[in-house]
Parts: sequence; structure tokens; C-alpha cells
Amino acid sequence: MKKNDIYQITIEDIGNDGEGIGRIDGMAVFVKDTVMGDVAKIKIVKAKKNYAYGRLEELIKPSPFRVEPICENARRCGGCAIMHMSYEKQLDYKWNKVKNCLERIGGLTDVASIMEPVYGMDKPYNYRNKMQFPVGLDKDGKVQIGFYAGRTHSIIDLECCHIGHPVNDYLVKHLRGWLQKWQDKTGKFIYDEEKHQGFVRHILTRVGFVTGELMVCVVVNGDSLEAGRKVASEIAVVENELKAIIEQAVKEYNLNQAYATKDYFLEIKFTSLSININKDKTNRILGDKCVTLYGQDYISDYIGAIKFNISPLSFYQVNPVQTKVLYDKAVEYAGLTGQEIVWDMYCGIGTISLCLAKKAKKVYGVEIVSQAIEDAKENAKINEIDNTEFFCGKAEEVVPGFYRGADNSGKHPDVIVVDPPRKGCDSVLLDTIDEMAPKRLVYVSCDPATLARDVKILVEKGFEVGKVAVVDQFGHSGHVESVLLLSREE
Ligand code: SAH
Repeated sequence: MKKNDIYQITIEDIGNDGEGIGRIDGMAVFVKDTVMGDVAKIKIVKAKKNYAYGRLEELIKPSPFRVEPICENARRCGGCAIMHMSYEKQLDYKWNKVKNCLERIGGLTDVASIMEPVYGMDKPYNYRNKMQFPVGLDKDGKVQIGFYAGRTHSIIDLECCHIGHPVNDYLVKHLRGWLQKWQDKTGKFIYDEEKHQGFVRHILTRVGFVTGELMVCVVVNGDSLEAGRKVASEIAVVENELKAIIEQAVKEYNLNQAYATKDYFLEIKFTSLSININKDKTNRILGDKCVTLYGQDYISDYIGAIKFNISPLSFYQVNPVQTKVLYDKAVEYAGLTGQEIVWDMYCGIGTISLCLAKKAKKVYGVEIVSQAIEDAKENAKINEIDNTEFFCGKAEEVVPGFYRGADNSGKHPDVIVVDPPRKGCDSVLLDTIDEMAPKRLVYVSCDPATLARDVKILVEKGFEVGKVAVVDQFGHSGHVESVLLLSREE
């Protein structure tokens, strides 16, 4: 196979970025803009030793699962990679992805018999509580605010995003005008990524889906919203205008929505405005420091009955409705009666730990990011939960140290929960879990391939997989979230 060869293929799978995957002579070929079930004529654009990339030339027989995406930018936008596939088929794909990984990589058999039906969203739109809009200029000096096009940093100027909270559409519209005004006045208000010049880089927003609290954080390449001249009174003018136009956007949203959807209307309350300082030439969106310009430093939200304070830098699950479903599953699989010692590894800001703590004797959490551990402790406090203890460090270092240390209390937990990042659990941690000999292990995973790799190791150590649930957190993207219950007889 070589570049520019033409083939006809059938798309059988989806890659991590939502691209279709077909096979030619057993070799995987990744083809953007195709859907499972498509028969397509493709041209090879890059051929590697074990795989290739192809470009869609002609759709010979469109997949029966193709739908017209609700968003006109779906094809270009890097956000929703599989919006052109029916939501039902997306769920089906995600369920099968977990099953196939557990069978092919994990070495399990008949996984379908222990899998629950997929937990999809009732309405797979407007589900995200957090948005990060890049800001830039087009070649005519017009402000662009929206999303990056797939795999590039060119910005699609968005009117509307169908997966974010709808207040964002109002915010973006008003912010665009404000940004343009100050760009026109100063000539350097908008950040230029290539030259590493200018100020405003990104706008981050968060909405508490239960409280209605809104946070806006403007990421700037500077120490303030400098309007070209570093005169305090001028900066104050820019800041006050920013505050006023956000108030305006929220007011418009509340008025329109209250009118349109009276029954389940949630009033948005503008609660926090801050800048985040990021002066580095980097792809990282946020810098380490935030300065509050108006209101509180954080917004609050609830998952079930538990309250969380969320600052711009904290990690918080983006789909609050499905997060509740996911955590409820994790708690259910943990099978708590109130007497158990539990470890929550990779605990973040303690979300799962606090859900578990209500039903356990004691919960230990461990997490690598120190700010997250601070948040976890604070979250325990505001909920008056006093049976948790949090440790900062790498799980694979903290837990073995604790296990072999003098304190006996958490050595043999009844239940361990792990929720690692995509790369899965460290092998040292899996060995330690084995030694700690919990009765039950609940594995929350955002990557079925590494999940299956770890499950294989755990099964070799004598664990048995009892139940599997797939919970869709990210409709229209290829990401797959799942929860597993593993147990072992003493
Ligand atoms: N359970 C949390 C967070 C899950 S995300 C929630 O549901 O909100 C995975 C977390 O693992 C992140 O917070 C990340 O900072 C943390 N992490 C990554 N590597 C780690 C390691 N080696 N040890 C401990 N935590 C780690």
C-alpha cells in the first residue's frame, strides 16, 4: 500500500478521535468523516508499516446510521467527532467498544452476559457545564471566538454550540463585540498565538447545573486586562465593561429562556468573574494563577446531595447529570453497609470519595494534584463529612508506603475504587492492590483499552469481573466511560 492508492473499504470501527476505521488486507486504515457502516472509496494519504490514513473520496453506500448533525459546524469542529452518527448507534458503539476490549485485550469470555444495558443521556445536547473558547483574529482583523477546527488551531467562529449550556451562546455573542471593540481601539487586545503577543487567549465558562451559578474566567497573556496602556483607570474601564456585558448576556438569556421553557427553567446567576494569568508560549489553556475581578472565587454545584465548590483551576466532571449516574453505579458496586474501610485512588477533588463516605466507615483518597487535594478536604468540610482522609502524591507511591508503614488502620480495606487517567493504573499500584486484598474493587475508566489491560492483570491475580456498566458522559465524541466490579474470595 502506498500514498495516492485508491481503495474501496467498509468502515467497521471508530478511533479515539472519532475517525472511521476500515481494513485493507488486515491493515487498519483511519478515514476521517466516515461512519461505521459506510462503504467508501478512499485515497491513501499516509501509509505506515502497520496502519494507514485515508481520505474520503466518495461515499459509495452511506451507512444506515448516518444522520444530519444538529450542528452545521460538526464536520469541521474538533469538538463533536461523531455527531453524524445517530445517538443510539453511538451508544451501541460505546457498549461494544468496552465489550470488545475486555474480550480481545482483557482475555475475558462472554462479557455481554455481565454487562448492563448502556446508560445514555435522555437528551444528548447542552450537557456540558464547562466550555473553553479560544479567541483569535482572522486575516481581516475580525475577532474569532469559538472552537478549534479538528487537529488545528484555526478557530471556527461559533454562533451556537449544541453540547454546551445554552447561556454560552449569549455570552459568546456579547463577548465577541466587547473583544472587537478593544482590539480596534488598541490593536493588541487579542492574543496572537504565533507571535506570542496580545492579551486575551481563551474564555472559560462554568455553569452549576443545579445552582445556576455562572463563572467566567478570561485567560490573559499579562497580569491584568491591559488595554494597551498600563493605566489603572483604563484597565478598570475594560473590566467594568466586561462585567456589564456578561450581566447583559445573562439577563437576555434568563428573559428568553424563562419565556421559552417555563417548566424547567433554571435562572442563571452571574457569580464569579476572574482572569487567569498565562504568559507562557504553550498549548496549555490555563496558567497557575487566577485573580478574581467580581463576585466569588468559585461557584458551587451539587452532585446528588453533595455540594462542591469549583474554582477555575479545579478538575470537575463536565457532564453533571451523567456523572451522578456514573458515581451512583460506583457506589452501588462498592456494596457498602456503613462498616467498610475504602480507598479511592485517583480521587481528584474527592467527588467519588465523598459519595462513598456517606455509606462507609472511613474513606481514604489519594491524588497527585495538590490543589485538588486541598479542594477535596474543603469539600469534605462544607458537607460536614468527617470520615475521610486525603493524601497527595502518586497513588503508586503513596499507597505502598502507607501499606507497608506502621499505621495499621487502612491496610486491608474492604473496598478499593480506582478512577485513573487514560493511561490506566500503574503496575506497582496493581501489585499493591493485590497485597491489600480488598473484597471488592471498583474500576472507573475513561479508556476501555487500558482498562482491559489492567483487568487482565487483576484476573491473573485472582479477581473476577462481576458487573460492567457503560455510562455515556460525552455524547457526540468518541470517548467511552465505564465502571467495573471486580471481586475476590478471601
Ligand atoms: N475521581 C475523580 C478524578 C478522576 S480523573 C473524579 O471523578 O472527579 C483522574 C485523576 O487522577 C486526576 O485528578 C489526576 O490528577 C489524577 N492522577 C493522575 N495520575 C495520578 C497518579 N499517578 N496518582 C494519583 N493520582 C493521579
